[in-house]
Amino acid sequence: MEDNKRTEIGELGEFGLIDHLNKSIKIKNTSTFKGIGDDAAVIEAGDHVKVVTTDLLLEGVHFDLAYAPLQHVGFKAVAVNVSDIAAMNAIPKQITVSIALSNRFSVEAVDALYSGINAASEHYNVDVVGGDTTASRSGLVISITAIGEAKKEELSYRSGAKTNDIICATGDLGGALVGLQILEREKQVFMANPDMKPDLDKYTFVTARQLKPDARMDIIHELRELGVVPTSMLDISDGLASELFHICKASNVGVTIYEDKLPIDKQTYDTAVELGLDPITCVLNGGEDYELLFTIDQKDFEKLEKHADIHFIGHTTKPDNGKNLVTKSGTVVELKAQGWKHF
Ligand code: ADP
Ligand code: MG
Repeated sequence: MEDNKRTEIGELGEFGLIDHLNKSIKIKNTSTFKGIGDDAAVIEAGDHVKVVTTDLLLEGVHFDLAYAPLQHVGFKAVAVNVSDIAAMNAIPKQITVSIALSNRFSVEAVDALYSGINAASEHYNVDVVGGDTTASRSGLVISITAIGEAKKEELSYRSGAKTNDIICATGDLGGALVGLQILEREKQVFMANPDMKPDLDKYTFVTARQLKPDARMDIIHELRELGVVPTSMLDISDGLASELFHICKASNVGVTIYEDKLPIDKQTYDTAVELGLDPITCVLNGGEDYELLFTIDQKDFEKLEKHADIHFIGHTTKPDNGKNLVTKSGTVVELKAQGWKHF
């Protein structure tokens, strides 16, 4: 081993680092059905499986209490975990909640955080079954672990897409990124001049997309009622393009998506233009929408065709076709996955 070798984490990036760590991990228990590499791990539990996911949220990195009310931070911390359970096509049942607090926080502040956590627990029908509490030197840290259940044959992995499957996206995309830009802009205005009242009325939709995302459990329940199991699925936390890349890599397929099929809300579009951002770039690379991206076999298309909130944005191809975006003018451009760079 070389003595003074130092590799910057930025050289590997978030996904490269996870791949690197994964190589050093050995699975020892036969009940570990699927470890690192999907939205949640899968653990055998008799006639069904448990799915487990965890997320860490840091003040100043993932949320800013200058504009994110603690209730919303609590709700979002639960929602992002439920979203990863949904992405496996499973039903969330329990969560654990761990928090680290600096002395800036009072009991009332923790109550506000928990009012959001409890509201989300009601909304998603999950039980808070434990956690940990400790001191922090740098603000608030929240880590939530969610446990869900499914039958093995109900699960949707990132790796199950086949050639000529239809690619579906729920809801609308890009709103959370645009909302964040507005909140940041108003914060700067306020810091420069505390007498200025932030003018957010025009932007309530996009700011809510950022501050209070809703995991799409409604879609998971509907897919079950319709008897559709997606061939692959993940949630859109890092941006549509980045998530499509995950499907391509895990399923060994290519993708072709169509610009005119990409779902964007009017307020997201207008606000992006106002901010000087390209709306389609926001849809492709904006993170944190927590919508679902999934593929279905063509035979299931009729069952979903009329659904108001599921959009058919393209199809999978043979891997050598690559990853393509067909623009409104019919030009084919290579899809780039910028996603969110943490490092
Ligand atoms: P998601 O965006 O769906 O939460 P991530 O990109 O965070 O997924 O993680 C991808 C996979 O890597 C998941 O299986 C996750 O559990 C795993 N993972 C992430 N960080 C670590 C880590 N430090 N050690 C082990 N596994 C990790
Ligand atoms: Mg995910």
